[in-house]
Amino acid sequence: MFIFENQIELNNYLNPLREEGFSIGFVPTMGALHQGHLSLLRKSIRNNDITVISIFVNPTQFNNPEDLEKYPRNLEQDVIKIKSVSKNIIIYAPSVADIYNQNITSETFDFEGLENQMEGKFRPGHFDGVGTIVKKLFEIVQPKNTYFGEKDYQQTLIVKKLISKYQIPVKLHVCPTLREESGLAMSSRNERLTPEERHKAKIIYQTLLEAKKIFIEHDHVKAYEYVKQTFEQEPDFELEYFIIADSSTLIEISKKLKTKRYRAFIAVFVGNIRLIDTISFY
Ligand code: AMP
Repeated sequence: MFIFENQIELNNYLNPLREEGFSIGFVPTMGALHQGHLSLLRKSIRNNDITVISIFVNPTQFNNPEDLEKYPRNLEQDVIKIKSVSKNIIIYAPSVADIYNQNITSETFDFEGLENQMEGKFRPGHFDGVGTIVKKLFEIVQPKNTYFGEKDYQQTLIVKKLISKYQIPVKLHVCPTLREESGLAMSSRNERLTPEERHKAKIIYQTLLEAKKIFIEHDHVKAYEYVKQTFEQEPDFELEYFIIADSSTLIEISKKLKTKRYRAFIAVFVGNIRLIDTISFY
């Protein structure tokens, strides 16, 4: 098991392997790993000679300092979980200085409007931070394949745009969302919920499923109404947004068209913990 804390050591190890023609699969994460992350690792292992996982809580993508400070970190546990998948996975767990030197700032990106919707609108600067770290990590790891979760669907479109804009020679694989038994999307932030909150949070996915039925049978107006009313009756949950949008442009629906493919996006606060989820609406 190799754990590298800086990019020079990582590349001293990877360079000879690259020269031999070994393919590298890459799974970027912020740690506090769960089965969702491990499913990405398993996919990478199946398709590549070498799999690299990065564990780095990227400060520039957090717009809320408390969220950054409280973000769960547990490298020791993460290493055990990674080992349970395979002992051959390479872990890159850099310090902030290894990534940013002294300059902890984001580049500014134009993702052709994708960055202004939903997570971009409610978390200003978030996708500049995401673009900055993903671009840096691709430069360091130089993977052939990379694996991202559909749970962060907007992020996958942003990464796709980043790859095409900067002509980065990597193939993006988007992997399905793993859920807890209750249906709640697995997330590192779930660890911060009390057991009771975690159980109740299944309402997020249940509401998405019901809203989908309403949308298909009726329209977005009825679905919006249903979701709003559902969360108004839940004092422990605060709906930040529920949006049905075109699944490729992410522009919010104004009129339901048969020719379009839609997707629903939701962000909900449980206390001060913010959870997101998304499902296709077709
Ligand atoms: P994070 O550590 O939250 O930044 O996530 C790292 C990667 O894991 C991202 O590509 C996420 O979309 C993906 N991911 C997070 N949660 C899940 C999940 N429940 N199922 C599948 N992939 C996930």
